[in-house]
Amino acid sequence: MAESCIFCKLALRQIPVEPLYEDEEFLAFHDLNPQAPVHVLLIPKAHFTSVMDVTDSGLLGRAMDAVKQTAHTLGLAEEGFRIVVNTGENGGQTVAHLHFHLLGGRFMQWPPG
Ligand code: 5GP
Ligand code: ZN
Repeated sequence: MAESCIFCKLALRQIPVEPLYEDEEFLAFHDLNPQAPVHVLLIPKAHFTSVMDVTDSGLLGRAMDAVKQTAHTLGLAEEGFRIVVNTGENGGQTVAHLHFHLLGGRFMQWPPG
């Protein structure tokens, strides 16, 4: 746990959260400021500042399995959705705890801003 990390606090239930997916390693919940009809964040419960901080590539594979499971649960699998992992300053990352955005429920434009 990183002191003052908001996502660590959610993972530890120091702040209440409605879990949309949860296992020993990952937690998914609604984004506070949704950018699409469905906007969910999936985080590892352990603190990693960004994807660049992860040395266990197995964790990234398990994260994708959890993303897929969450997408099925939310009914996104058939129509499609977007997975976003903002990384660092130019990537637009604002919360320094690795998270995977799942965005769906509408057509996603390309290129992103
Ligand atoms: P980033 O910009 O780092 O890729 O994404 C951070 C996301 O976390 C943003 O979409 C923002 O709305 C969301 N967020 C920030 N603080 C909170 C919070 O306390 N609770 C939830 N559920 N989402 C948050
Ligand atoms: Zn954290």
